[in-house]
Amino acid sequence: MNPAAVAYTARWVWCGPGDLRENAWVLMAGGWVRGVQERPPAGAERVELGQGLLLPGLVNAHTHLELSGLTSLAPPAGDFVAWLEQLVALRPDTLRVNGAAATRAAAAALAADGTALVGDITNTGQARAALAQAGVSAVSFFEALGPSKAPPPPPGYEWQGPLLSGAAVAAHAPYSVPAGRLQALKRQAGDLPFCLHLAESRAEMEFMAGAGEQGRRLEAFLAARGLQRSQLDLRAATPLGQVQSLGLLDQHTLAVHGVQLRPEDARTLAAAGTSLCLCPRSNLGLTGNLAPVEAMLAAGVNLALGTDSLASAPDLSLWREMAALAAARPGLDPETILAMATAGGARALGLAGRFGAIRSGAAGPLAFAPLAPLPPEQMLAAAVQGRHAGPPRSLGRG
Ligand SMILES: [Zn+2]
Repeated sequence: MNPAAVAYTARWVWCGPGDLRENAWVLMAGGWVRGVQERPPAGAERVELGQGLLLPGLVNAHTHLELSGLTSLAPPAGDFVAWLEQLVALRPDTLRVNGAAATRAAAAALAADGTALVGDITNTGQARAALAQAGVSAVSFFEALGPSKAPPPPPGYEWQGPLLSGAAVAAHAPYSVPAGRLQALKRQAGDLPFCLHLAESRAEMEFMAGAGEQGRRLEAFLAARGLQRSQLDLRAATPLGQVQSLGLLDQHTLAVHGVQLRPEDARTLAAAGTSLCLCPRSNLGLTGNLAPVEAMLAAGVNLALGTDSLASAPDLSLWREMAALAAARPGLDPETILAMATAGGARALGLAGRFGAIRSGAAGPLAFAPLAPLPPEQMLAAAVQGRHAGPPRSLGRG
């Protein structure tokens, strides 16, 4: 047996959807999961975690680490364009003053609470070193915004042991990137994930439809930054219609937010295999609503969870996103929410099997939530709702 092998056990081990085990042992070595078994493995150091839930490391499928210095933004209050104006006005100065330190602190917080992997939107690449240093695997989505022709760096995934440092392509949104450029970016993404914000705000919907006061304000905001509506080559009156007509929807595309999607839009995403990432606290704070989760699940859309940035969320805890979603949609099965925060995010980032599940060959770390003794059905609800007996933590980082 490898002397570096460590075996973890807890009262409950959730290996993935439909796979909850009592007092199972998870063997890890070098940051990789080597197996799950009923009896303690011979020759490995043993760590008995006691009452609580051991689960795959969480996947935060959408954040913007490099905006971590923007916590001084006034809380969102349902006015999306006003929030955008604040973001753009504060961004350069605030980030120059405290951006790098805030990004490092945010990466360390992610590492501490059981987050294994992030989908991180970037315009600079500056968060990549902080994430690697903290031991958090990352798909860094280099985001294109506006009409510029400068291409993002070539996409590709690189592993250093169990730590992934991936580069992928993102377009900001169909209201801020011209049609031809969206198509070129999607082509560049190839078989790796392609991320874009979609149908987030009322303002975006009105802008795409060419009507409404909030739409006019968004149009003025974009025009003041050199992007005219006529440059976008709009082919549909909705964000989803635009990306669909441009051929951007397939199983490699990750749409983020979807707050303004209609229940019937679930069929479009499901047929294309496109994943949708909800950012519950940001969505509720900025827009007062969430994507039609139940319709998406019923149609079979792969759902992921993200925090969005510290400019619209109070912290980058995916645990608190799960709790916010459970509170906003109390009818959702807790296991469905856990799946969104693990396997759903891994699949959305093209990493199913490598993250989001406890199985041989998966990368660590694991996450552990201490819980009071409870029967299994109540225990999953307590874990998701944040009724923990102590702070959640990471285990087995390579
Ligand atoms: Zn975002």
